[in-house]
Amino acid sequence: MKSYDLFIDNEWVKSNKEEEQNVINPANEQTVAKIQRGGQEDARAAIDAARTAFDSGGWSKLPPAFRAEYVMKLARILEENMVKYGEIELQNTGKAVKQVIDYDIAYTIDNLKFFAGATRLIEGVATKEYVPDGTSMLRREPVGVVAAITPWNYPLMMVGWRAIPAIAAGNTVVVKPASYTPLTALELAGAIKKVGIPKGVFNVVTGSGSAVGEELARSDKVDMIAFTGSNEVGKKISNLASDSVKRLSLELGGKAPFIVFDDADLDAATEGAVVGGLINNGQDCGAATRIYIQEGVFEKFKKLMIEKLSRIRVGNPTDPKTDLGPLISKEQQAKVKDYIEIGKKEAEILYEGGSRGFESGFFLRPALFSTENNKARIVQEEIFGPVPVLLRFKTYQEVIEKANDVLYGLASSVWTKDIRMAMMAARDLRFGTVWVNDHAPIPSEMPWSPMKKSGYGASTSKYSLEEFTTVKHVYVDLTGQTRKSWYYQIYGDQS
Ligand code: NAD
Repeated sequence: MKSYDLFIDNEWVKSNKEEEQNVINPANEQTVAKIQRGGQEDARAAIDAARTAFDSGGWSKLPPAFRAEYVMKLARILEENMVKYGEIELQNTGKAVKQVIDYDIAYTIDNLKFFAGATRLIEGVATKEYVPDGTSMLRREPVGVVAAITPWNYPLMMVGWRAIPAIAAGNTVVVKPASYTPLTALELAGAIKKVGIPKGVFNVVTGSGSAVGEELARSDKVDMIAFTGSNEVGKKISNLASDSVKRLSLELGGKAPFIVFDDADLDAATEGAVVGGLINNGQDCGAATRIYIQEGVFEKFKKLMIEKLSRIRVGNPTDPKTDLGPLISKEQQAKVKDYIEIGKKEAEILYEGGSRGFESGFFLRPALFSTENNKARIVQEEIFGPVPVLLRFKTYQEVIEKANDVLYGLASSVWTKDIRMAMMAARDLRFGTVWVNDHAPIPSEMPWSPMKKSGYGASTSKYSLEEFTTVKHVYVDLTGQTRKSWYYQIYGDQS
């Protein structure tokens, strides 16, 4: 069985505490690898390595094309080893093989290629005499040392979103992967070393959020936290980081509405609802969880949705025919089951797959609810499991109000053939993404950008590179005078 050490300053090192932790395959509950349980001291060592690497200027001052070349080489390593990375991700997350290879790994490769190219386009745009006889220009510069704290639902992809654009833009990083799913981040560290990215630029410290994560959030030597995870932890990090006035990019929870108008193609909409609701087993911040259906097609939609949900194949993730593997952990399975029980008290249950027949692993088939109560907990709270809810509506105004009536603002979709309706909804929905007649695609070129309590700061796209850079104003005097015209402010009329 493979044991992974911490990756600090391009070396594999043991934790100061000399503690190990088992990494579990959620499909069979077997240990698949061992990792170091890092602590505060290890976090500090990684921060020091990243700080030294940044302050030396060796990485941040490299021409963008050089950094782009390293990132492109990383993408190529992933491409050449897709199956290996896919197998490790599969064993660590229980994701179905078709998802892990064709989506998680393939998409991460595309993200990396995009960041490699886009970093060469980072530019300072203004050059002008805004003050007579003084030229202003802008430089866009890296923020410094970035701590990337990532969740378990898309382990490699989230390192791709939070750490790779950071280094592409000239920052140095310390990655703190989720404790359940650290393996592909550690494998990527091996690739970092292989392609020759200088020491200290990319560090990985595994360990608990309370020890490693909080040290990163508190440290004076860290300039920015790029966090993807829950609202609860996001708030904690934000409080801890405020003492040292860090830049924050927070990608938090979601509860996406999926709106179906009477004129929608119902076959397409029900397929979209199943896929959008169950992608990654519903453990997706953009998952379609609140399905609003106009009254004229509600009954038909409900019937089709139940039929389609009941055909989903839950089981062994290595089988290419499997649609969904297990949930990530026993705790997550218990949380989702609790929500199903809550749902039974406040809504009508239309379908419940349950978890009968599985001897081990954290399997749970989808459940489907229907309610008229927009304030029901299963409509408002992030369940992070395969539990969509159907809600009926009459008018455009009503559905927009109900869809927007939620803490979160990450993603939404609208299903209609009426372009005017689609464009109005795109304007009126308070979510960072609005899909029309689909639910889920995020091209690397487009931002994944939260609104409301889903956080702030874009992932993916050139806007993510803006997150990891800061603008610097450079002003050049053109007068050549000792006493500039405005110096009378201090000197008065003295000669
Ligand atoms: P989580 O908040 O529990 O953990 C995220 C990371 O924070 C982990 O690495 C964890 O170890 C670390 N952490 C935990 N406590 C910490 C602390 N006190 N200080 C610092 N770090 C700490 O989230 P999760 O359960 O891993 O992931 C699921 C959540 O992530 C969901 O809410 C989901 O919506 C969200 N998510 C959001 C996006 C997005 O793009 N907005 C994408 C994926 C997941």
